[in-house]
Amino acid sequence: MKRFETRAVHAGERRATGRADRQSNGSAAGETDGGFYPISTPVHLSTTFAHNGIEQTDRVLGGEEPGYSYARYGNPTVTAFEEAVAALEGEGRAFAFASGMAAMHAALMAAELTSGATVLAAEQLYGSTATLLVQVFGAGGVETRFVDACDLEAVERKVAELKPRAVVVETISNPLLRVADIPSIVEITKAAGSTLVVDATFGTPYLQRPLELGADIVVHSATKYLSGHGDLTAGLVITGAPYDAALDQIRKLVGGVMAPFEAWLALRGLKTLPLRMERQCENARLLATRLAVHPKVAKVYHPAEKDHPDNEVARRILADTGGLVSFELAVEDPEEGRAAAFRFLNALDLCIRAPSLGDIYTLAIHPATASHRELSPSRRERLGVKENLIRVSLGIEHPEDIAIDIEQALESV
Ligand code: PLP
Repeated sequence: MKRFETRAVHAGERRATGRADRQSNGSAAGETDGGFYPISTPVHLSTTFAHNGIEQTDRVLGGEEPGYSYARYGNPTVTAFEEAVAALEGEGRAFAFASGMAAMHAALMAAELTSGATVLAAEQLYGSTATLLVQVFGAGGVETRFVDACDLEAVERKVAELKPRAVVVETISNPLLRVADIPSIVEITKAAGSTLVVDATFGTPYLQRPLELGADIVVHSATKYLSGHGDLTAGLVITGAPYDAALDQIRKLVGGVMAPFEAWLALRGLKTLPLRMERQCENARLLATRLAVHPKVAKVYHPAEKDHPDNEVARRILADTGGLVSFELAVEDPEEGRAAAFRFLNALDLCIRAPSLGDIYTLAIHPATASHRELSPSRRERLGVKENLIRVSLGIEHPEDIAIDIEQALESV
């Protein structure tokens, strides 16, 4: 198999499209009449695909022959993106969705979270995933219990006690960047027969490939690092047997599919994933080091920092320490935390005050009023999301320009 960087550039591209003209003119897959073919996968903006004879349509619809018939069932541009992501994850089949949440919903359905089932979820989970479990799956009779995914003894205890049908964790959590010990959690879930679902959005296959470590289902918000340019919304589920057949069916019937133009943009973005991640991880490390000694910063959260609770786990199981840094502003009066955070964010010039992460642009947010807004103040407090906390998602700009901007904004704190 070719190396990760090579697969990022070539996987999925120039795939056979099953074009009708192949049979009539004898040309190879993707070739045109002139004997040339595009080096970039075309955007197939067609809802329906015709064949040379109805017998072939019958075989394609019946699944006896690979091919395309109707866009909700599959589209060649979307397949190209799926194949590229599956090639980076190393194994499994990828299913693309219209958003990360649509992907997570489909993954949880494929994990058979039906009435009477219990799911054990990391308390560090992305807020909308936790709410999806509690409200949507809860209404369908699924019980959600939470556990600190970084406390392996607690995970082991709860799995033994609850025998959950599924366990849901994230590679790296938001906003304190806690790192789940996936290899150890795999051992626990395998022994209990629970399905392990890993949201690898913050890690990407560049940092860790959970399927290779034994996880059952991987989910990504491709809105973030995989596409990387802040210009599309998409999600992916990557898995193998026995979950892939269910996913295929769920996707067809629920219909939250990825659109072809988004797939084309995402496929293009994916090619530079290793380059972007390398730079973003480096930028995050440099910023964390600088902030750690800054007098206006009370505390830095970054897995490469020696005092991060998961520093050892991160070094053991991740290829690098990720592209995010969070930090608490130094404020004397805790009541002043929000005002100081707002002053800091308003003073930024280069870095953009906006939610989301994983873009080429450096983005900064105030988690207490953004990603964790829906939580009660006491739950935020328990999760360590303080009013003076800022999260920065590093872009690919020069690290010195990012640091200069952040340091000048810190003057306003
Ligand atoms: N998972 C994680 C870890 C996220 O951060 C997000 C979005 O921020 C999602 C899932 C949902 O993705 P999307 O916004 O593409 O639906």
